[in-house]
Amino acid sequence: MRLIFEIIFLSDYNIGTGYSEGILDTPLVKDQNGIPYIPATTLSGVLRKGICDLLEFDYLSHHRKCKRSNSDGSSYCRNTKEMCPVCRILGSPASKKEWIFSSALAVNPENRLKPIISWKNKININTGTAEEHKLFNKELYGKRMRFRFNIQKERNDPHSIEEASFIIAAMRWIKNIGSNIRRGDGKCEIHLISHEPICFIDSDNHESLNSEQCFLNVFKRSWIDNVPIKDFEDITKPYLDNDNIETNGPSVKKICYLIFLTIEPFLVCNTNERGNTYESLSYIPGQTLLGALAWKTARQLDWTNEEMDQKFLNLFIKNGIKLTPLFPAKKLDKDIYPSIPIPYDFASCKLFPLTENNDHDWKFLTGEENEHNTCQVCKTKNRISPLKYVNGFISLYIQEKEAQYNRFFVKVNKNKSTHIAINLPKGITEHGSLFHYITVNPNQYFIGKIEINDWKFFSEVLKINEDKPLIELNIGKSTAKGYGLGKLFFYFPNEDQKVKGLFIGKSFESRVDHENLKKPIIMTLITDTILLDNWGRYYQRFDGRVLKKIFQIEPNIDVKIIKQFVRTRRIDGFNSLLGLPKWRERVFCAGSSVSFQFKIDDDEDLKRELIKKLKKLEKEGIGLRREEGFGEISFNHAVRTDKALSMRIRLPEPMRLKRLKKSIISRTEKRWIEYLNCKINDFADKKWLALISWLESQDLKIEQMLNLIEKFHTNDEKVKDIINNLKIDEKTNYFLKNKNLESFQGVFKKLITISKNIPEEVKDYWRMESLKLFGEKIASNLKVEDND
Ligand SMILES: [Zn+2]
Ligand SMILES: [Zn+2]
Repeated sequence: MRLIFEIIFLSDYNIGTGYSEGILDTPLVKDQNGIPYIPATTLSGVLRKGICDLLEFDYLSHHRKCKRSNSDGSSYCRNTKEMCPVCRILGSPASKKEWIFSSALAVNPENRLKPIISWKNKININTGTAEEHKLFNKELYGKRMRFRFNIQKERNDPHSIEEASFIIAAMRWIKNIGSNIRRGDGKCEIHLISHEPICFIDSDNHESLNSEQCFLNVFKRSWIDNVPIKDFEDITKPYLDNDNIETNGPSVKKICYLIFLTIEPFLVCNTNERGNTYESLSYIPGQTLLGALAWKTARQLDWTNEEMDQKFLNLFIKNGIKLTPLFPAKKLDKDIYPSIPIPYDFASCKLFPLTENNDHDWKFLTGEENEHNTCQVCKTKNRISPLKYVNGFISLYIQEKEAQYNRFFVKVNKNKSTHIAINLPKGITEHGSLFHYITVNPNQYFIGKIEINDWKFFSEVLKINEDKPLIELNIGKSTAKGYGLGKLFFYFPNEDQKVKGLFIGKSFESRVDHENLKKPIIMTLITDTILLDNWGRYYQRFDGRVLKKIFQIEPNIDVKIIKQFVRTRRIDGFNSLLGLPKWRERVFCAGSSVSFQFKIDDDEDLKRELIKKLKKLEKEGIGLRREEGFGEISFNHAVRTDKALSMRIRLPEPMRLKRLKKSIISRTEKRWIEYLNCKINDFADKKWLALISWLESQDLKIEQMLNLIEKFHTNDEKVKDIINNLKIDEKTNYFLKNKNLESFQGVFKKLITISKNIPEEVKDYWRMESLKLFGEKIASNLKVEDND
């Protein structure tokens, strides 16, 4: 069982690590990206305090059993059959701790950009005077910070539900975290925002869940009224009656497609990668998108307004939004076509896989009767090339007359760039810290679907104009470095598109044979899917019983598996934007495919019911976390068999790329790269990179940069500061005075000449891009040196 909590700070807070770092006396705990978090050990201490505080109440006095629970008895509960809540939940020398805490990660880490630093004199108690040079500062974080963490346990039994209810009640009781509580810092509220698996509370009605209310009812019954939990049924009842989420005025539900156009490169990683290379995914996962939307919405909100706060919670925390991942779209002229991950049973010629103008062999292995497993085209040329699975995306566009491979597949262009880690406050480069990003290039389209329960609130907060429903959005990592910016368009599909389905492209009726339900059917997972059995364990393969359970079909229908091409993987560690704690989940990967047959009697009613059920499954998805885009499926997907398919979406005017500017930039970029490649072989020193990074962080025009660099030999105060910050060795000082500086200036002079034709509206973009390229060139010089 997993309980997911959110901490909302109502005043500034400060959680120190207890050690001193430089001039900061009580630094906040931060991760390697400088984002604050609250360590698991702190949270465990917070819970202990909450439990003890609750036990002070008379109505819980019968649960005090040892010294830890405020009783006079032994130091801990030795009788494991009858333990106090402290020993039971947090463990004791007699019983193992079963509840595991995660650290709490920031949901809205942008607040970290505004730490409040307060300086104080340290008072010498003996003399009553401020000691000189004993100023210390304290980094405080603002009151809107929100963090999420989870507490989990392997089991889901009634016993654990009881414990969970105590944990939740104790957390609700907590009013402060951190030091300086007396001065009013660290005021907070902790709420349960969801729990998993959801099934033990209510398996039919996911939308209306308010987990916290439900658990607090359980708490009252089992800890105060001492009514033991008999079965799960009982728990659902008090909750369902209670669910009245307050709403002012009617909320309008809207379903639309999301078209995302990348303006800057993006870097979206699924896992917490180690090492120094980060490669972006080729699509945007649902949880990343949801996080980005929540972040943007949170920044627009007035948090002092409680109604707004509630609406935000309803929308983002209580599943008021359901969305899919955004998969890359195929662009043809003014239209785009959605794509899906290539199904795992798709195999193509290994020697000549999906490249432009390729007419080599391919096929879907599921449903294939007469199996050949080598490329028939290669065979005619006396080569043997096996058919192998290929990674990628297949578009919902097939044309009968030119059914060539390059029509089918969507290529996502990526670029590698090199960065150097800069310690920003000090402005110096960190030792040995070159790292690489493999990012998705600008000017690519992605498309997915979103359902918004309260469109009115959503569109008002994000200022979405109905005539031009377009916003700018930052996606993925390193948005502070300028990555991840794109345009997001809310596209309202027409009836025809709705019937076809964004990621399917053909109506259900035209794919599944209503007359002959005994024909094999192929289910393809369009997105990653999380399927749990009754005991909370992950399914890893399909069998007839599993499918029957997932489909929830009548006992008198059986399912027989014919073939399956299935992959599973662990997902752990989520995007820090969403602030979800790191837990592990095993998912069926998107692209997994299974073919099966129904064994069904010739009963028309039964068949009609089954058809209805399948259609509903396709519409609503299967498994857990569907609101984040998991569990999208299709039966007999059109890409498998159809000879003609066109899920065409006309690009709205503001989403079209302007050809002219693009070509000017690419021409200029080409000249710049040529220049850098043949002229720049010096500057093999990390300090130059540091200088460029510093320039990147300044809001200066290229001319102003040159101006600044030209002043480097003077005694200008600002320049002196920079030089000091860059830790340039005064003795050698070659960095500033010799030819190197002159050629550095020369590079900027050249850049000014080259940039002459860049139009005004893309100048900012070009300024960053040109510096980035310059930096990369220097980094490539460095690497050669490092290898020596
Ligand atoms: Zn105890
Ligand atoms: Zn071939």
